[in-house]
Amino acid sequence: ALRTLSHLSRCKYWHYDDRLMTSSVVIVFHNEGWSTLMRTVHSVIKRTPRKYLAEIVMIDDFSNKAHLKERLEEYIKQWNGLVKLFRNEKREGLIQARSIGANKANKGQVLIYLDAHCEVGINWYGPLVAPISKDRTVCTVPMIDSIHGQSFTVEPQGGGDKDGFARGAWDWSMLWKRVPLGEAEKKLRKTQTEPYRSPAMAGGLFAIERDFFFELGLYDPGLQIWGGENFEISYKIWQCGGQLLFVPCSRIGHIYRLQGWQGNPPPAHIGSSPTLKNYVRVVETWWDDYKDYFYASRPETLTLAYGDISDLKRFREEHRCKSFKWFMEEIAYDIPQHYPLPPKNVEWGEIRGFESSYCIDSMGHTNGGNVEIGPCHRMGGNQLFRINEANQLMQYDQCLTRGDDNSAVIITHCDQNQHNEWKYFKDLHRFTHVTTGKCLDRSDLLHKVFISDCDTSKTTQKWEMNNIVAV
Ligand code: UDP
Ligand code: MN
Repeated sequence: ALRTLSHLSRCKYWHYDDRLMTSSVVIVFHNEGWSTLMRTVHSVIKRTPRKYLAEIVMIDDFSNKAHLKERLEEYIKQWNGLVKLFRNEKREGLIQARSIGANKANKGQVLIYLDAHCEVGINWYGPLVAPISKDRTVCTVPMIDSIHGQSFTVEPQGGGDKDGFARGAWDWSMLWKRVPLGEAEKKLRKTQTEPYRSPAMAGGLFAIERDFFFELGLYDPGLQIWGGENFEISYKIWQCGGQLLFVPCSRIGHIYRLQGWQGNPPPAHIGSSPTLKNYVRVVETWWDDYKDYFYASRPETLTLAYGDISDLKRFREEHRCKSFKWFMEEIAYDIPQHYPLPPKNVEWGEIRGFESSYCIDSMGHTNGGNVEIGPCHRMGGNQLFRINEANQLMQYDQCLTRGDDNSAVIITHCDQNQHNEWKYFKDLHRFTHVTTGKCLDRSDLLHKVFISDCDTSKTTQKWEMNNIVAV
């Protein structure tokens, strides 16, 4: 049973207009289990006033499980056409499957997206759709409870304030985060059960007026399979004149992934790193100068070919969408308090011995291992480094520093204020170890990297840092 949040019992005192907008509920699925999929459908039919439920549109994203074939087609006949099933002819991924769903679902005024493993709560509909009925540029997200993937117990999610209220957020590497609802936002509400503003949504469960979603161009058609689309739609809504609200009185349970479950693998026709490419498309389109913080956190994405985004940029221009700076200052102002802006990169790429074919290579070592010298391969990976404004010479979340013998250069995990030790003098082809005043040096023959007294005549102290070409 759902652990009750006492302040939410006040939800029962709200009155909703009895002429709310109608909805199409869209459920996209790929190889979902029978009972979880059908529980989603049954709970919607049982707990939604019939006059508001125009249709349920199921989009099968190229599943191959037997129970999702005829058995499913037969089963939904009991609802005499209320539940419709469309099948993708190839695996589209959840993002494009949701855009396809928007095209197929044309009977309701609002589109309500649900993952295929949800259970809507009692009276979920009114609170979720009422804000949209008042203002069609509002997009709403229910309070999502966590259904355990094995025991099916229901719990409120973590990450909120003492009452469980959270806003949707991200860190600078674009991982989804929840941050507690802060005082400034609380002051905007008259009661605790009112909808409140959120910078971002988690992505799977939300309601949006259908025409408004089309005006926003649905999802970027270049986003593939999974990831980043929740931020794309959130930024688009806020920066282009809409609002995103979390609605405490509309509760829907969602089964979260079990530990270790990575999701269904992308199909063979999709290239490498679709999720990372999605992130790059989103930051390149919406983050303006803030994109440097993303690249500072995920330098490996600097080499990704993320495709053409000129249509998206044109959309932003034509709709006079606001800047990311405006968004960060007015709406997402609390995120840097939880996830401080990382120091920006000054340079990134391979660190090559000047006019040589040898590069610094971490050899995959971390947390105290030595860095070495190896033949440059220009593939990034263990030869991709960056030096940032905080004087850190880094690879992933690791910093280069001096080893215990005071000479060898090692690589070890660091926070923003640790191992702020390096300066790169591009014209002199030199890396200075600021804390000792020594210079970065090497032996190509012994494959060793170390620091030693600076000597302008030593070619082994000369370096160049080169960007690596896009792949
Ligand atoms: N899904 C899909 N195609 C895919 C991957 C996922 O249609 O290629 C569906 C999936 O069945 C689910 C929804 O998209 O209904 C969201 O995916 P998932 O639940 O795996 O994401 P999560 O909630 O774990 O972020
Ligand atoms: Mn899900």
